[in-house]
Amino acid sequence: MTTLPPIRTGKARSEFGHVRPLAEDIEIPFGIIEGAQPGPCLLVTAGVHGSEYCSIETALRLLKLSPERIKGTLIVLPILNLQGFHKRSIYVMPQDGKNLNRMFPGDAAGTTSQRLAHWLTTSVYPLADAYIDLHGGDLDEGLAPFTIYPRACAKSRALAEAFGLPVIVASGGAGYTLDAAHQLGIPGILSEVSGNGLWDEDTVGMMSAGVHRVMHKLGLIEAAEPAPEGEQKVVTMWVPKAPVSGLWYPAKTLSETVAEGEVIGGIRDAFGKVLASIRSEKAGFILYRLTSLAVNQDEALLGVGTLLEA
Ligand SMILES: [Zn+2]
Repeated sequence: MTTLPPIRTGKARSEFGHVRPLAEDIEIPFGIIEGAQPGPCLLVTAGVHGSEYCSIETALRLLKLSPERIKGTLIVLPILNLQGFHKRSIYVMPQDGKNLNRMFPGDAAGTTSQRLAHWLTTSVYPLADAYIDLHGGDLDEGLAPFTIYPRACAKSRALAEAFGLPVIVASGGAGYTLDAAHQLGIPGILSEVSGNGLWDEDTVGMMSAGVHRVMHKLGLIEAAEPAPEGEQKVVTMWVPKAPVSGLWYPAKTLSETVAEGEVIGGIRDAFGKVLASIRSEKAGFILYRLTSLAVNQDEALLGVGTLLEA
């Protein structure tokens, strides 16, 4: 099939299969879980980045939810970048070497990732009343859990709070999954759990519990495990890029605080000569960092979270 099946048939069901939305040979697995009672439609995607396994495993487990437990419909696309998943690609779709999460709202006449973004924006997002895009630290990236929401959208922020991770990031960027959904009036969040592609019961459990809390908030399920106690920090994120290629030596660990102007890492050559010293433009704390020793010019080095003024 080239399109998803209907999301509302009036009968409780779990329907699984593969959709082939583009002309080329791409098969994207999907699950539609329709409850016996009417309710909202939640879209969950994962595997935009094919090696962020905690998010993919979390999405796959959602397929096992019983329709009897649900009011409304859950659409799950657990591995959007299937070829990237099998090739263990970092960030990009192997078909065109582009990062799908920079291609939105997409282009019907573009390359594979641009056309996939266009299909999602025009044929999938409009089905949903709310959207969760699951991510995590890729194979070369460590992170402390956080949820991103489009800064201008109060409904999205409420979903980010419900997800329950300790840090919430207000984002203003364009080209992302969430931004395309926001432009259509659909509230959405992007949650990041675990790093370096790792997954285990603890991290998948943390991410699954967050999805369930959002489903509960939206009215799709009756109950969910409450979020851990503790204040949620709401921040903006500053991301320095590598000014040169070389070897990356971060000076800060995850969650460590940084002062404005402080050295947060350096890039050296193979013999230890410092090629660039990276100073923080912001005061805050480390949200994620590149863990690869190799770094190429213009790659993101780390994310510094700065508390958002209320
Ligand atoms: Zn990602």
